[in-house]
Amino acid sequence: MFSYLTDLSCPRCGARYPAEAIQGVCRCGSPLLARYDLSRLAAESSRAVFTGREASLWRYHELLPVSRAENIVSLGEGMTPLIALARLGERLGVPRLLMKDEGTIPTGSFKARGAAVGVSRAAELGVRGIAMPTNGNAGAAWALYAARAGLSALIAMPELAPAICRAEVASAGAELYLVRGHIGDCGRLINAAVARRDGLQEVSTLKEPYRLEGKKTMGLEILEQLGWTLPDVIVYPTGGGVGIIGIHKALTELVELGWISGQLPRLVAVQASGCAPIVRAFEAGARESSPWPDPHTAAFGINVPKALGDFLILDAIYRTNGCAVAVSDAELLAAQREIASTEGALVCPEGAATVAAIRVLRGRGEIGEDDVVVALNTGAGVKYPQTLDATGVLLEPDGEIPPPAG
Ligand SMILES: *Cc1c(COP(=O)(O)O)cnc(C)c1O
Repeated sequence: MFSYLTDLSCPRCGARYPAEAIQGVCRCGSPLLARYDLSRLAAESSRAVFTGREASLWRYHELLPVSRAENIVSLGEGMTPLIALARLGERLGVPRLLMKDEGTIPTGSFKARGAAVGVSRAAELGVRGIAMPTNGNAGAAWALYAARAGLSALIAMPELAPAICRAEVASAGAELYLVRGHIGDCGRLINAAVARRDGLQEVSTLKEPYRLEGKKTMGLEILEQLGWTLPDVIVYPTGGGVGIIGIHKALTELVELGWISGQLPRLVAVQASGCAPIVRAFEAGARESSPWPDPHTAAFGINVPKALGDFLILDAIYRTNGCAVAVSDAELLAAQREIASTEGALVCPEGAATVAAIRVLRGRGEIGEDDVVVALNTGAGVKYPQTLDATGVLLEPDGEIPPPAG
């Protein structure tokens, strides 16, 4: 079988929904999770089948929701490199530091994974257009994948969202609205438009079940790239939490399949101190978060004051004995420069936040010297010119380059 998808279930109230119909959230308001016939897959297959398949996230099609190969809408996303950061790791006292680098993926951020799977499945189920509010990267990815699938896209983003993401959406030919307000205002406008128009599905974060399945593949890839051995810690920059929830779902499915065993890696959610609702909830031992007033950070991908899936993020942290930690914009921007100058990787500020957090956790003794630590870089640094140092020494053509200093 191409996909072992069976149905959808609600992690909050347990309700079940058929997967053959277009679904949004549960009647109780919770996100829905895709379920697979894992015992059948375990009986009919093994993890060895992935070896030698194409280097994209579709190599895991049995664990993805698209039912037929010809319905896949792809730009070649996935199987991003897992690279050793030996020099930086030495500096941090974590010599076995690795980075899963999503900076090389189409559309410039890991949002491409969710968009590829979400758009493919939506088109397969007969959706003709998608609509979403966005802070930037998600709208860019969904608009571009919608264009590839021949679906229409209706996108609303704050007027102050990054120009590069606006340009990606506009280039994709989407219907784009720039809202004088924040993402919550965009959400209300989209919601009202979807109610008035036919054939549009609202695909904002966790309001449809399949984006999560695309992001889950980061977890599958990390494990396959480590030869199916488990790292000790996975550190993830957390906004809406789709990535960390997805990685946890991937780990849980692999355990149930019997394809990995042992102690699950501790999952660490990193946020910016200007918007840290998950960290505050974790520190209080809470199961849900409270909306963060006046959120702000240069790492716009994690500027999410209240995540719909907050209880799933916190659950992933508690179940793996992980934690949540906040770093300041100054710390994450310094880490962005440090990663580029020590390792040659120009990461996004969200990705840099994971390295700043590893420094904090190593200092507190919560990460040990022998730990295998995987940091997620969720996007390309070049999408964030406003956070990068571009200074240089100006010279006239008849000037002279001085001798080396010192
Ligand atoms: C959206 C985004 C995040 C946060 O992703 P979630 O999985 O929704 O928490 C992190 N980094 C970048 C670059 C993003 O665009």
